[in-house]
Amino acid sequence: EFKGMSKERMLEIRQQNCFPMTMKVTFYKKPVFIHQGHMQWLWDVDGKRYLDLFAGVATVSVGHSHPKVTAAAERQLKRLWHTTNIYVYPTLHEYCEKLASNLPEPLKVVYLTNSGSEANDLAVMLARLHTGNFDIITFRGSYHGGSPQSTGLVSNHSYKYPVASSLGCTNTMCPDVFRGIWGGSHCRDSPVQTIRECSCAQGHCMAKDQYISQLRETFATSVPSRIAAFFGEPIQGVGGAVQYPKNYLKEAFELVRERGGLCIADEVQTGFGRTGSHMWGFQSHGVIPDIVTMAKGIANGFPMGAIVTTPEIAASFNKAVHFNTFGGNPVASAIASSVLDTVKEDGLQKNSLDVGTHLMTELAKLRDKYEIIGDVRGKGLMIGVEMVKDKASRDPLSPEVMSEIFEDVKDMGVLIGKGGIYGQTFRIKPPMCVTMDDADFFVAVFNKAVHNCMERRVR
Ligand code: PMP
Repeated sequence: EFKGMSKERMLEIRQQNCFPMTMKVTFYKKPVFIHQGHMQWLWDVDGKRYLDLFAGVATVSVGHSHPKVTAAAERQLKRLWHTTNIYVYPTLHEYCEKLASNLPEPLKVVYLTNSGSEANDLAVMLARLHTGNFDIITFRGSYHGGSPQSTGLVSNHSYKYPVASSLGCTNTMCPDVFRGIWGGSHCRDSPVQTIRECSCAQGHCMAKDQYISQLRETFATSVPSRIAAFFGEPIQGVGGAVQYPKNYLKEAFELVRERGGLCIADEVQTGFGRTGSHMWGFQSHGVIPDIVTMAKGIANGFPMGAIVTTPEIAASFNKAVHFNTFGGNPVASAIASSVLDTVKEDGLQKNSLDVGTHLMTELAKLRDKYEIIGDVRGKGLMIGVEMVKDKASRDPLSPEVMSEIFEDVKDMGVLIGKGGIYGQTFRIKPPMCVTMDDADFFVAVFNKAVHNCMERRVR
């Protein structure tokens, strides 16, 4: 039972003492006042239970207040909260070794940070130090963070400010096979076939070739032979679970490396088994990046981030001294270490694959039933449901109608996310402990919410 501050008072404080930009991301018209969590469940201050399918944006990886992770945190809190990494202490070293052992060769060297933005900032700096080049390429629609450096990488107007951000960042066309100008079903690296039409001929993916030719054009127009790094989320998160055609990343990485640049995978949302088939999103693209950045799920919601790279690239950091007060904090390291164990012990990667595939298969049936569900896509528990005005035009469903469905789903007890450059995609990225029953419950709720929406339109 919750005996704290009243809802009215919290809203008052939010108005008076919290930055206005934090109000904007209170997505709901009727806000949700969360008070407690356990595994895939959240409870509000009135005791109403929600199935959490957004996990604080793919952040709660193993489950809210997971007992094993909570115990690891408690043990460490009693022993040592903080010391700087100028001293040698066990939890950081245990964790760096454990994390590195979960990445393919030659990715063996870890630097711990406090957030994804900070990890991406460091990745940019490292790429520039290592290559001696300056230019960075990211995808349109991408999200890489909120710091001055990482907002330069971001390509989504909602997260950009009309002030100077970092120099040297160029966006290239996102090879989005649903909303982009080229595409088709089997271009997509997905466990379920989600759209019918396909521009591919005889197994050769024309869309991939077309998007690659666009990337070549970006090199020619914007970064002739001075590229430091190319950034990609293996599946775009904030962009709305956007997947790229098969072999696109492989060819893009080759082109970047031919030009002396490094390839960076931003695994902030896709890492730690969420995509089901692999521990890391990049693995299903058949590539090995030069630098991998991670955060969010790394510590199940405790503030932490990391970059992992090769010994050779890491050595370029010696050109400068870098100090980070909290990076690799003993409690954060103990939690992250326990998260990695828990992903394995609880079989969460396999669960992501099984539940995610089932969920997408069931959602694809709703897509076939309703004119306004344009696309269902993803991998494991990194899922997007793109909403359209109608299937023929594929115009994005309006923000107002998106909100109605979103609010209805919440009122029926399920929390999901919204994303995409027009806010047109529902995002489903739950704690990886969700069950088949949870998936079925959501499908029933979503079916009802979309049905209600269609009814309102007819009336
Ligand atoms: N990269 C990606 C792919 C993200 O989704 C985010 C956060 N939404 C970030 C980086 C930034 O992480 P943080 O908010 O921890 O700085």
